[in-house]
Amino acid sequence: MVQDNVCYDITIIGGGPAGLYAAFYSGMRDLKTKVIEHEKELGGKVNVYKEKTIWDVGGLPPTSGSQLISQLIKQALTFHPTIALGEQVVDIRRTDNGYFQMKTDQNRSHYSKAIILATGYGILQQTKLNIEGAEKFETSNLHYAVTDLEHFRQKHVVISGGGNSAVDWANELEPMAKSVTVVHRRHQFGGHEKFVTKMRHSSVDILTPYAIDDVKASPDGCCIEQVTLKHCESGYCQWRKADAVLIHHGYQPDLSFLDHHPLGLQVEERRLYTSHQMETAASGIFAAGDISNHPSSIPLIAGAFTEASLAVNAAKLYIHPDADRYARVSSHNNRFKQHN
Ligand SMILES: Cc1cc2nc3c(=O)[nH]c(=O)nc-3n(C[C@H](O)[C@H](O)[C@H](O)COP(=O)(O)OP(=O)(O)OC[C@H]3O[C@@H](n4cnc5c(N)ncnc54)[C@H](O)[C@@H]3O)c2cc1C
Repeated sequence: MVQDNVCYDITIIGGGPAGLYAAFYSGMRDLKTKVIEHEKELGGKVNVYKEKTIWDVGGLPPTSGSQLISQLIKQALTFHPTIALGEQVVDIRRTDNGYFQMKTDQNRSHYSKAIILATGYGILQQTKLNIEGAEKFETSNLHYAVTDLEHFRQKHVVISGGGNSAVDWANELEPMAKSVTVVHRRHQFGGHEKFVTKMRHSSVDILTPYAIDDVKASPDGCCIEQVTLKHCESGYCQWRKADAVLIHHGYQPDLSFLDHHPLGLQVEERRLYTSHQMETAASGIFAAGDISNHPSSIPLIAGAFTEASLAVNAAKLYIHPDADRYARVSSHNNRFKQHN
């Protein structure tokens, strides 16, 4: 097993908004910090909606997901934390000297005095289109996320799904696409009422209760050119021309490393019990962001920031019991002198 024997003060598992802000705040508290992220890129779930506009982060004008990610990363790197990308933590245990050892799927071990779990609901696996061989079109026109709106301009777009994402993208793509068809297994949509109404009153062609039953490849076999849509009750089939197919069937979160409740962590409905100070049931392990479950938690980016600073402050006190309870405000903090 490859070892990284350096023992960090804080290791943050997860590089989404909570983990990135924790990395910044941890540097502000003069703690040697590492972030371990399963994906090859930072940003967490915001990567799923990079092109969407985020309105509800205090002090920020409406900002795209990708802009928010790049600003979060820039801020997180202020105090030069170590970043380990492409590694999934699969096991946590306490060492004989009371520190923590984290093992990853890359056969590496990481060591830390304290841990902040910022894993969100876990590693998100997109629920794939359940049609044999469909995966070969993922490099052409079968999409699970919108990374560039221009891919859809003047195209016949078929969207499958009935949640917020499917409805939002139907509304967003409708003015620029040649046509938008939404296919959903149920008559009811799970998206916000206001946006469902907007979609229903637009030119979007809505087919319910329908599901994509088959895809027909172009003559050269490299992309989808047609989808077969099957009525979920009668079995009646019809087809639509498709230049782009967008699937939003939700996510299956993988939080399996917590399944056996390592070190006594209390997992409730795939979230972790935490105190108001973001302490988990295992001393030395803290949590922040969507993973944390306490009476005041809100699964929003703004909530993740507050929880990240609380978790870092609690971790600082765990490592240095005589430390101040929280950091000196940034405007008067010596740590920033060199940056000003
Ligand atoms: C479609 C959509 C739209 C949204 N819009 C808004 C909005 O407008 N405003 C708002 O405030 N919030 C919004 N949210 C919610 C917001 O994205 C989340 O609250 C926020 O991302 C939570 O941040 P987090 O860091 O706790 O978790 P995440 O963003 O989920 O990040 C967790 C990270 O941990 C990593 N990870 C998990 N397990 C491991 C492991 N074992 N080892 C290593 N890495 C691991 C994951 O890969 C992931 O990168 C939206 C969410 C969705 C799905």
